[in-house]
This record gives sequence, structure tokens and C-alpha cells, in this order.
Amino acid sequence: MALWSSRNRTETVTCLACGVDVARSDAREYDKHGDRWDRDDKTFEHLCKSCFGDLCHQPRDGLEDLLVDLEAGENSQGVFLSQYLSTVEDRYGPLEEGQD
Ligand SMILES: [Zn+2]
Repeated sequence: MALWSSRNRTETVTCLACGVDVARSDAREYDKHGDRWDRDDKTFEHLCKSCFGDLCHQPRDGLEDLLVDLEAGENSQGVFLSQYLSTVEDRYGPLEEGQD
């Protein structure tokens, strides 16, 4: 814990898909409702670059509906992630292994 010095305090966000913490500046904002312009009272989800890339390879159609169906952000993250991943695999097939 003490290794994390206070001057090294990058704001981080948690990737919606894989759950890793990434610097906010490296994250991609993802609005599960698909409307990036209405920012009132909204919590944006974030994706790391890798997951964002994966999602962009998936058919976009229905993805927002899928996330809303799963009530992203309302379940605990662990529950959400497992539902999300199994639903995505169900609909679109397994995600390719990360290309990091
Ligand atoms: Zn990720």
C-alpha cells in the first residue's frame, strides 16, 4: 500500500468488460445508452483500450440494448461481468483472446 505514493495519483477508472483499473486518460468512455451528448445525471462506463477494441469488432447492433438489458452498473460488478460475458458469447460467439 505504502508503495503507492500520493504524488503518483492518476485518476483511474475500472474497465467495464475486464475489470482492470486503467488511467482515466487511457480509458475509452462508453455510454451504455448510446447517447453521448446527454450527460445530465449520467455515469459513463469505461473500457480499457483492449476491450474497447474487442467491442468494436463485435456487431454494434444491439450492444447498447444488451448492456441495458443487463442493467450495467446496477448489479455488483462481478455479477454483471459474468452475465455480460456469457451473454456476449451467446450472441456473438467467444471473444478473441486479447492481443496485448
Ligand atoms: Zn478491459
